[in-house]
Amino acid sequence: RLFTGRALATDVWSIYNAANLPADCINLGQGYMNFGPPKYVIEAAEGALRDIAPNHYSHPKGRLRLREAIAKHYGPSFGRELDVETEIQVSSGANEGQYSVFTAFLEEGDEVIMFEPFFDQYLPSVTFNGGKPVYVPLHPADKPGRLTGDDWTVDYDELRRAITPRSKMIIINTPHNPVGKVFSRQELEKIAALAEEFNLLVMADEVYDCLVYDDKEHVRIATLPGMWERTVTVGSAGKAFAATGWRVGWVIGPPSLIRPTLAACTRIVFSSNSPMQEAAAVGLEQARERKYFETQVKEYEERRAVLLDAFDRLGMKYTLPHGSYFILLDISTLKIPDDYPFPAMLDGRGRDFKACWFIACEIGVSSIPVSEFYCHEHTSIGEKYARFGFCKDLETLRQAGERLQKLK
Ligand code: GLN
Repeated sequence: RLFTGRALATDVWSIYNAANLPADCINLGQGYMNFGPPKYVIEAAEGALRDIAPNHYSHPKGRLRLREAIAKHYGPSFGRELDVETEIQVSSGANEGQYSVFTAFLEEGDEVIMFEPFFDQYLPSVTFNGGKPVYVPLHPADKPGRLTGDDWTVDYDELRRAITPRSKMIIINTPHNPVGKVFSRQELEKIAALAEEFNLLVMADEVYDCLVYDDKEHVRIATLPGMWERTVTVGSAGKAFAATGWRVGWVIGPPSLIRPTLAACTRIVFSSNSPMQEAAAVGLEQARERKYFETQVKEYEERRAVLLDAFDRLGMKYTLPHGSYFILLDISTLKIPDDYPFPAMLDGRGRDFKACWFIACEIGVSSIPVSEFYCHEHTSIGEKYARFGFCKDLETLRQAGERLQKLK
């Protein structure tokens, strides 16, 4: 008997990881930082490792200290007191938190609506749990010059038409990866009205909630009238504390939704990385006094400015993100030689896979092809874009910006 495994395509992160790219390539691809968490947070992790209890299993709900810190930090922005026993579930990164929600609620054939482009992990997370993804595009405005996240909009008739008797859930990702769109209150109200009308569960992926710029308001859909009861909100310590490798995230919602999520989480991972939960707790506990998140936003605005300036000088069209740490560059005018030696693993992928490969090999800056964030049928829309991350220090971004000028 031969064991062939599932015919899963190689994921985009593995294709564009450092092992495949030139050694001196500046990595603006997968979203992780080239700087570490704040010193006091690292010290908290060291302290936790020296202690005995945090070296062992946490409660499957998550360590109490972290749940308390989450309740205190997030409570005001949800406009309610969060119950640490019944309304917070700590997960092994936001990914696993989302996976657990799908495991907890999807039955074979249930449909999950997601806006395109979508963070690629949603797709396997839904289908592995028997769900069927249903795609509703965000439409970029057709106008000259640069776009902003606000220019990518939902057609609400289209959204309504996507809803069927099998629709179970809708995913709202704000701030949005990869567009950088921060959904407005009005937009979320319209989506919420449809979720109520058709009794949909809402998965609010808000892992970039602490990275919102230009004085935009981050609105949690869970805080709109009637939405708390049907919404789970997912957050991430990795994004909050420049610690993507810790794999600590959380899911916040009403007891009726957290109970099944806890049951799923317990069976998938039992409990999450304990020492790093302690460190995340300390980060949240001290954030306010240290003005940590305010400072971090300013730093990211500076980083964003460096890359935006590089794209302006280059004269290529892009979308200004109001949140997250990604910029979409329109690569439709980029010239790629037909006879370029592309590796076989790019066969059958969109033009953007080749463009990102070409840019990485020729000028030494890696990015992520955006057709991976679209379903197969809509590759032709996604392949117009490459995603560049600005979660790097200023010097690295400046260097990347200079290299990008060679694309002129
Ligand atoms: N969220 C990150 C990104 O979009 C990391 C991707 C991942 O989890 N594989 O770059």
